[in-house]
Amino acid sequence: MAEQTAPGAQRFIPPDAETIDELRAAAGGCRGCELYRDASQTVFGRGDESARVVLVGEQPGDMEDQKGLPFVGPAGRLLRRAVDDAKLDPTQLYLTNAVKHFRFELRGKRRIHQTPDQVHITACRPWLVAEFARLRPDVVVVLGATAAKALLGPSFRVTRQRGELLPWPESAQHPEDFRRVPVDNAGEVADAPPTRLLATIHPSAVLRADDQDKAYEGLVADLTVAARALAGQRRRSP
Ligand code: SF4
Repeated sequence: MAEQTAPGAQRFIPPDAETIDELRAAAGGCRGCELYRDASQTVFGRGDESARVVLVGEQPGDMEDQKGLPFVGPAGRLLRRAVDDAKLDPTQLYLTNAVKHFRFELRGKRRIHQTPDQVHITACRPWLVAEFARLRPDVVVVLGATAAKALLGPSFRVTRQRGELLPWPESAQHPEDFRRVPVDNAGEVADAPPTRLLATIHPSAVLRADDQDKAYEGLVADLTVAARALAGQRRRSP
């Protein structure tokens, strides 16, 4: 049974971390909630620091937990295919999860995925905020309900608003968390450039769907909206 409170990740984030690599190294020691106890390792985001699109999923799965990389299991393979079909440039993607440790239940020797609770989402959110501050994406893609809860709040319904471009960070649950971003190594901050967010289903939902072809087409259609938004967005200055 999950603990109902957790200290949260904030105190594990080095305030002077300037790069994603520094954040990733610090996240390896995070004890912000109890999920670190049973998981193999922290699975932090991956992708180029100058990536223009950030895709946020739920949490690492069994294979991701073993490899220490996000989206390397079956859902990740499907996502890569959908990204290609949507004509999103894979070199422009940064992939991460709302919760950075694998939550599971042991059944015999099998580790069965368990959806993170709100307490885990809240505890892990500071890592997402820190990633966003360094990445300053041009388009944000939220994959599934857990990521939507982490970024947009518990009342957001992916089923109702999927595929719709929303203003970011205005549509965030706490927009102030995402509004100011560092601009130099001296601690200077500025307003984050306005951008867009789009929610869609998690690729694992396609794998579970009765009609997988239809679910896959829906995912590609949503990602195509993101690809077009990216094409219409001016590349930010470095
Ligand atoms: S799930 Fe997030 S908050 Fe919890 S221990 Fe892992 S990195 Fe820290």
